Amino acid sequence: MIERSAIKILILDDEQFMLKLLARMLAKHGFTSVVCCDNGPDALVQVDNEATRPDLILLDLNMPGMDGIEFVRYLVDRQFTGSLILVSGEDERMLRTAERLVQAHKIHMLGYLQKPVQPEAMLALLTQWAPPVPAKPSKAKKIYSAEEIKTAIKEGALINYYQPKVSVASGAVVGVETLVRWHHAEDGLVFPDQFIHVAEEHGLINDLTQFVLLQAFTQAKKWQQAGFELRVSVNVSMDNLTSLDFQDHVVKLAADIGILPQKLVLEITESQLMGDMRVSLEILTRLRLKRFQLSIDDFGTGHSSLAQLRDIPFDELKIDQGFVHRAWKDETLRVIYDASLALAKQLNMESVAEGVEDRDDWELLRRTGCDLAQGNFVSKPLLAEEIPEWIKVWLNRVQTELLVVSTN
Ligand code: C2E
Ligand code: MG
Ligand code: MG
Repeated sequence: MIERSAIKILILDDEQFMLKLLARMLAKHGFTSVVCCDNGPDALVQVDNEATRPDLILLDLNMPGMDGIEFVRYLVDRQFTGSLILVSGEDERMLRTAERLVQAHKIHMLGYLQKPVQPEAMLALLTQWAPPVPAKPSKAKKIYSAEEIKTAIKEGALINYYQPKVSVASGAVVGVETLVRWHHAEDGLVFPDQFIHVAEEHGLINDLTQFVLLQAFTQAKKWQQAGFELRVSVNVSMDNLTSLDFQDHVVKLAADIGILPQKLVLEITESQLMGDMRVSLEILTRLRLKRFQLSIDDFGTGHSSLAQLRDIPFDELKIDQGFVHRAWKDETLRVIYDASLALAKQLNMESVAEGVEDRDDWELLRRTGCDLAQGNFVSKPLLAEEIPEWIKVWLNRVQTELLVVSTN
């Protein structure tokens, strides 16, 4: 344990009154190594000197001259490893935005304090302070070449994982989403964000999707034969929807394997603006006529938006994880989550919340009547053979953790 008096704290605020007030609050709780600065350049002098470099900075956002955000940029240049608390009279939304910005710069944030600063709130943040852990050299994400991906598809190195989707009202396991991974001989498990884009850009996405679809439909049939009623979702890239062959292939594949289209869901995300929408519209409409289920993925992000809802007859709306996790405590997220859910309901679509990571997220879904939940709180993506055992464990959890019992 480090003594409070040994933690070097710097307060940067343009108002002398605030500096005194904060320093006094800190001293009262035993934090006595405190330096006050009323402008950014002076504070940077402290940071640059090893002897005075602070462990923690209380930073005002609004200052004439160098403002708080600009100051953070200078901290980034100096590879500052200490922690930061933002202090400001701005509203919560502005503070949260600033907090995200700081986190994006990989500077450790203890949190923010709204002026007038409440001593308890400040103490609560200060007690979370811990000496910085030496940063691991960040391993830049490797991006694979088209050639490597081509070989992986050809050699069957891509493996489908399946993440469960469960009913929020009953806890029943309704289906699974197929998430492809690459079992790489040297690099181990490689995630889709390291190869889907490359596959899209180099005309490999059709081969990749065909491979994923074949494995997924075959697996769907196996589960059906084993008595598991699971709807199987597959991610489809908009780049798959540029040739009318796609729909013929999907229809034929389902028929050959002997699985009803009603049991299959195609999740569509659009990561880039499409030129000609007519072909994709035609493919999707025809698949829908054949009773394949269509889902709009990552709703509210990128181009996955209202125009698509207007144009395509989706059955399911997946609220992006960025609007789900922590929406119970973040007002802005909550408004977006509620609006997405209301859209789904009014357009008679099944609602799915992605990124349900903890019990608080789960309870929000229950309170708001979201249909399905998907996320690490329920289960991480699993290998097909792990699913039957997981279902047992989950149904048991539903009972023992009272996941669907009304608490009021
Ligand atoms: P997605 O379709 O939105 O899939 C959900 C992603 O969220 C998955 O990432 C999943 O592992 C992750 N996830 C699940 N639960 C949680 C949670 O509780 N918290 C958080 N933070 N994340 C969670 P993954 O598997 O890395 O896939 C990323 C994206 O790659 C997918 O996003 C999908 O758009 C794309 N993708 C995956 N498989 C395929 C495929 O076969 N074809 C195409 N075209 N795209 C695919
Ligand atoms: Mg998806
Ligand atoms: Mg998604």
